[in-house]
Amino acid sequence: MARQKRKTYLSGKGYARYKDSNKYVHRQAAKKKIGRSLHSDEVVHHRDGDKLNNNPNNLQVMSRRDHNRLHFKEMENVGCSAVLFLSTIISIVLVLILILPLF
Ligand SMILES: [Zn+2]
Repeated sequence: MARQKRKTYLSGKGYARYKDSNKYVHRQAAKKKIGRSLHSDEVVHHRDGDKLNNNPNNLQVMSRRDHNRLHFKEMENVGCSAVLFLSTIISIVLVLILILPLF
């Protein structure tokens, strides 16, 4: 399988685009993977979060809605661990404040 290497450049959003057509490399790769063109409400998700990893295995075509939901969940998880971290710190400080006067 001979694959010609087309020239690409990095777009402002961090995605690779073909120099000749200005098309996004990941959208072209996803089209090839699913064998049809993408609908306007479909987006291509990079599973590993690397916008430049356009390996077909790393690309997932999903609706804009599902995609937003997916990333919202990720943000929620980050938020949860931040709250958990803060509450742990606060409880340690509280315990120290309560215990220290005893010594
Ligand atoms: Zn995504």
